[in-house]
Amino acid sequence: MTGKVTQLSIHEKLTRLASNLWWSWDPDATEVFRLIDPEKWEEVHHNPVRLLAGFSPDRLEERAREAVLHTRIHWAYRRFLDYLERKQTWGSTHAAILGQAPVAYFSAEFGLHESLPIYSGGLGVLAGDHLKSASDLGLPLIGVGLFYHEGYFTQAIDSSGWQRESYPPLDSNLLPLKEATNASGRIVISVETRSGSIFARVLHLAVGRIQLYLLDTNIPENNEEDRHLTARLYGGDHRTRIRQELLLGVGGVRALKALGILPNVIHMNEGHSAFAPLEVIRQRMHEDGLPFDRALRDTASRCVFTTHTPVPAGHDRFDQGLIEHHLGPLADSLGLNLHGIMGLGRVDPQNGGEMFCMTVLALKLCRIANGVSSLHGVVSREMWAGLWPWRSVEEVPIGHITNGVHVPTWLAAQMRVLYDRVLPERWHERSGQADVWSQFESVTPGELWEVHSTLKMRLINYARRQAVEQAIRRNEDSSVIRDMEHLFDPQALTIGFARRFAPYKRAELILKDLDFLARLITDSDRPLQFIFAGKAHPADDRGKQILQQIFRLTRQEPFRGRVLILENYSIDMGRYLVQGVDVWLNNPRRPLEASGTSGQKVVLNGGLNCSILDGWWAEAYDGKNGFAIGTGRTHANQDIQDARDGEDLYRVLTEQVIPVFYDRDRDDLPQEWIAKMKRAIRTLGWRFNADRMVMDYARQSYVPAAGGLSCSIVSMP
Ligand SMILES: *Cc1c(COP(=O)(O)O)cnc(C)c1O
Repeated sequence: MTGKVTQLSIHEKLTRLASNLWWSWDPDATEVFRLIDPEKWEEVHHNPVRLLAGFSPDRLEERAREAVLHTRIHWAYRRFLDYLERKQTWGSTHAAILGQAPVAYFSAEFGLHESLPIYSGGLGVLAGDHLKSASDLGLPLIGVGLFYHEGYFTQAIDSSGWQRESYPPLDSNLLPLKEATNASGRIVISVETRSGSIFARVLHLAVGRIQLYLLDTNIPENNEEDRHLTARLYGGDHRTRIRQELLLGVGGVRALKALGILPNVIHMNEGHSAFAPLEVIRQRMHEDGLPFDRALRDTASRCVFTTHTPVPAGHDRFDQGLIEHHLGPLADSLGLNLHGIMGLGRVDPQNGGEMFCMTVLALKLCRIANGVSSLHGVVSREMWAGLWPWRSVEEVPIGHITNGVHVPTWLAAQMRVLYDRVLPERWHERSGQADVWSQFESVTPGELWEVHSTLKMRLINYARRQAVEQAIRRNEDSSVIRDMEHLFDPQALTIGFARRFAPYKRAELILKDLDFLARLITDSDRPLQFIFAGKAHPADDRGKQILQQIFRLTRQEPFRGRVLILENYSIDMGRYLVQGVDVWLNNPRRPLEASGTSGQKVVLNGGLNCSILDGWWAEAYDGKNGFAIGTGRTHANQDIQDARDGEDLYRVLTEQVIPVFYDRDRDDLPQEWIAKMKRAIRTLGWRFNADRMVMDYARQSYVPAAGGLSCSIVSMP
């Protein structure tokens, strides 16, 4: 084996590294690709397949020699093989039962890397982080999703501040994707509807040790409409949505079967994939001759479900016509009439006026269900108590597993060096354990502050470059462009706010009192500056108005040059932001942020989280590891709640954040602030970590479900 490895050419090794996303969370492998051609690396949006497509093997060999990369390439490749071949893992010890038949993890979006923009926000990035941690832990798991060849969308902001969407097509040949095949060749699956079948090919993506399969309807077997079915994530109307979900759930199970994969457990990440168990039930009935009830009970005992949506209106619901048209053929083979199939998606199966809800279906077809933070667990139990009318709210069988982030993906390289020095050896293989992080206290304040200051400067330089490019695209005056080159003061307290511009996240809360904000921003001793970024859903005009409100502020004195909004938020931009800000602001309308994860990325890098006590922060904040806005109150009247939260936000900034940041010792170090940074990393790093999260899923959901415990929560239609 070793002999063979060294015989591979540089071109071959780099091609193999590029074919598996492992490189994206290995800083040394990433650096190798960058060093091949730093300028081109930016041009191809960090996509090594595209980078390598521009080099002949000979030219690449030459380039590796010029940049003295041979040793690094051999070493990266060696570590890659070691990673893939390692047999002894957390998963092999703690989830051996999944060894023969893996978990199939279904999600409508996966946020793995900026070069594959098939995510819209936190849900997708969470799914991506889940796969990466499952890979690191050696947990047998297969991902199932859709390939959106026009992605979510690319955002531009025009000179009036209005969001413009465009949909540049992705070329699957220039991504690390391959058409999946089996013994009979290329796999094409189909799903019937009342008006014909939808066909899809299956694309394969390697994510470390994890295989992800993405269904793609853009193939000649389909008519024009269905070729576009998987074009866009969350595009189209209810009809598009139900067809995408039919494909994801039913088509996804069929794709696994065509691949010869028989999952032990099905994990539905959000309700989009809730049709999947119905197809498993059909297979059990037809192949094993089980009656419907038995097949349902057996199937549900192996299904687990994670809900992410704390508002009733946020759950997918379909009317009877859409269900009959799309689920009719499947219902026929299950022996269900329309009333029967509708009943599976209704809280009250007898209520003919109730729409078909995907979350209800998922809850009825799973053995284990959870929300994504402790508070969200409480909210979910209340919201779905109607499904278990004979139980008290506390007994509603929905638990919680709080979200976490994949540390190697979000940790800055410079921070990693610091971690490597002070944490125990191979800390990243045990990063979900509390004891591993306790030694972070031994970092000296000066070195932590220096690393943070470097990362902050890196963010400011990035923001200036982006701002200049944006201004040029908008045909701004040369004076405006020149201003952009000098945006921001590297010494000033820098606050970041970036996430989807969904109205409940209230990006505009900080603008409640503009005179007051102006005074904070222009304070000559203790100034503030803000960087915003985020996309509004194309159909969300309210979200776009909020974006416009902030954009207008960036043009207005005295905010110009001190408040910036960056276009086209992505995983890449997210990394710069979460690694470089002093403070990360999050002010959702409680309790609508089911978990949130971006603040967790910030904490790992030494930024401090300043948030409403909602989602993960409600269980993470201990009084000293960041800042809390409000006291966890909610008010029935939304305007009153917004007004109170706005006042609390200003209060925490003026009474806590600003004074602590600017309280310097004689070496100009903010000692109390740095103590908070250290405490945040030590107390939060191990908990709000995707390794810990995936281990919790394995212990609390996957292993029990794989044991096939009998189903206790199904209420039959
Ligand atoms: C982490 C992340 C999110 C999640 O943000 P929240 O503030 O937790 O909602 C959204 N988008 C991107 C690109 C991210 O990386």
